[in-house]
Amino acid sequence: MGFKTDTIAAISTAMTNSGIGIVRLSGEDAFSIIDKIYKGKSPKLLSEQKSHTIHYGYIMDGEQTIDEVLVLLMRGPHSYTGEDTVEIDCHGGVFVTRKILETVIKYGARPAEPGEFSKRAFLNGRMDLSQAEAVIDIISSKNDYALQSSVNQLKGSVHNKIKEIREVILYHTAFIESALDDPEHISVDGYGDSLLGVVKDLQQKIQCLLDTADDGRIIKEGIKTVIVGKPNAGKSSLMNVLVGEEKAIVTEIAGTTRDVLEENIQLQGVSLNIMDTAGIRDTSDIVEKIGVDKAKENAEKADLIIYVVDASRPLDENDHEIIEMIRDKKAVILLNKSDLSTVVDKKALETLITKPMIDISAKEETGIHELESTLKEMFYHGDISFNDEVYITNIRHKTALADALSSLKKVEESIENQMPEDFFTIDLMDAYESLGSITGETIGEDLVNEIFSKFCMGK
Ligand code: GDP
Repeated sequence: MGFKTDTIAAISTAMTNSGIGIVRLSGEDAFSIIDKIYKGKSPKLLSEQKSHTIHYGYIMDGEQTIDEVLVLLMRGPHSYTGEDTVEIDCHGGVFVTRKILETVIKYGARPAEPGEFSKRAFLNGRMDLSQAEAVIDIISSKNDYALQSSVNQLKGSVHNKIKEIREVILYHTAFIESALDDPEHISVDGYGDSLLGVVKDLQQKIQCLLDTADDGRIIKEGIKTVIVGKPNAGKSSLMNVLVGEEKAIVTEIAGTTRDVLEENIQLQGVSLNIMDTAGIRDTSDIVEKIGVDKAKENAEKADLIIYVVDASRPLDENDHEIIEMIRDKKAVILLNKSDLSTVVDKKALETLITKPMIDISAKEETGIHELESTLKEMFYHGDISFNDEVYITNIRHKTALADALSSLKKVEESIENQMPEDFFTIDLMDAYESLGSITGETIGEDLVNEIFSKFCMGK
């Protein structure tokens, strides 16, 4: 496929001391290189061994033993890259793993670029671009839903949908073109009408995929969440309870600006990125500053607002202000301090605003499960079954789908304006190309390189 088949090598495991380190080699010389540096009990060379076997021995640099290793042999095309591949499992020290990499380079491999193994897998037709991108999404997934959706993408969920749509487009384009070439035998009379139906159906299919993109982003990145409420309502207490659920995976995500941090909290597969701005977190500020742009701005950008009401005190003007602010947002209302006697009139609150309401006690940690299931219901329509659902989680795919949709809209217009048939094919082919960029069939080398350069080293 017109790329160099030189043999690449990289460390595929993390660069910290650990149990096992893996150095991977891929390319034409992978077997001849390992023959030069491996010594085992068997007199047979590894290049003479069967594919998909594991061998115990030593990595040698001449007379010097570098490490005791297991070597895995995978002959192309039955490997990740589609090329001859050798994996050396060594002891997982940073120094020793590097030393093995240096040795394979000394004997003829060259250091791989980030993502180069996956790039080769793509160029060798082992997977399409959407699947290669899924590999990275699996590596960076932070919750069950993100993982599931990425694994499905790797298995071809996006690939199959796109292929289906492209085949229909290609069929009709080919038909029109042959009719135009051979008008005596193939008639396009009335063809516009039937094509219109097809084009509308395709638009709907693409729109359905685009509609998953918001959910897709939430699945991949987590639900952008802001907690609001008047002072002493129990916002910090709630935060502590939520964080306490899964202390180990509370991480800080740098936001767009240095002063906005997000804490990522996992609630049974629901991933919340709770925005932790000074304005929102500092409770004595929230009342005075509820109208302040920053708090509003954050609330505006949020996918979810958690409004904490102190149910042991009557609603006041701050509550009313908050209610107005969240009226058009996805929000849940938590009636906190349910362990105390309730003063807030729930019915009256319900007439003010219609949002899911949950009694909780941050102090006694009750109601948290109801919150979790309400969030699942709101964002994932209950428990997602991923069997045949396709989620668009990649912004590149979203853009390409939107482009394809606008090309198909042009086809629709051309048909409705009774333009000549060759007008249809131009836009049909544009849609075909846009969709092909998702699977990587119609994109240039530069873009391919750019996509794979974002991958990690050794992948
Ligand atoms: P914030 O100002 O909204 O962040 O509120 P805090 O989380 O600091 O809580 C204010 C006060 O209410 C503290 O004294 C908490 O101990 C108390 N508090 C918070 N949640 C509850 C609850 O569920 N029940 C009771 N009884 N007290 C609570």
